[in-house]
Amino acid sequence: MHTTFSVRTSSRTTFVNITRDVERAAEELGVTDGAVLVYCPHTTAAITINESADPDVVRDIDSKLARLVPHADGYRHSEGNSDAHVKSSLVGCSETVLVEGGALDLGTWQGIFFCEFDGPRTRTVMVGALTSGG
Ligand code: ZN
Repeated sequence: MHTTFSVRTSSRTTFVNITRDVERAAEELGVTDGAVLVYCPHTTAAITINESADPDVVRDIDSKLARLVPHADGYRHSEGNSDAHVKSSLVGCSETVLVEGGALDLGTWQGIFFCEFDGPRTRTVMVGALTSGG
């Protein structure tokens, strides 16, 4: 059982806080105690959990990834977006989040982020119930 929601990204690379969307998805799925899988079905984007209190943290991650994985670096893939594919695999396409008492069981400073590496685009995020509530 899963549900989806859309994320509209506004630049080639950006991190979008999707914590509230995941909370709503867990509620929609009826998961009050258990876990949800947050999954990105795209090859040039990713999902990560990191600090949401200071937006500069994800900006720093984005800019460090840009330096580690340059846009042009002698790649073979003809589409011209190999850096985005590499970043997608480095960061990963999913996160598992525990749910307790109807709330996401995240750390105080944590948020869930959709990581865009080849935007701007309209993207899809899938949220699956790993255990059912009740
Ligand atoms: Zn490609």
